[in-house]
Amino acid sequence: MSLDVNAALHAICPTGKGRCWYCDLKLPPAEEAIDAGWQVQRVEGDRVASIILVCPACLHKRAELGEEEFLRCLSPRVCNVVQ
Ligand SMILES: [Zn+2]
Repeated sequence: MSLDVNAALHAICPTGKGRCWYCDLKLPPAEEAIDAGWQVQRVEGDRVASIILVCPACLHKRAELGEEEFLRCLSPRVCNVVQ
């Protein structure tokens, strides 16, 4: 299922809660985010699907490293966040 990224960014920005799923970068104002290439992705959860935000830097890094390697690089930081 595809998402309307622009509409989603416009919906999320005013909440002030938008952050990159991977690096926790704060979402800029919607127009800026769209220009910069922020992505909104749908993730299927156990019970409900949720959407995540991904900043341009992380998109680029993920494309470069591949999903698996990218997540491996992130995991130490993700663990710190969880603690
Ligand atoms: Zn990021």
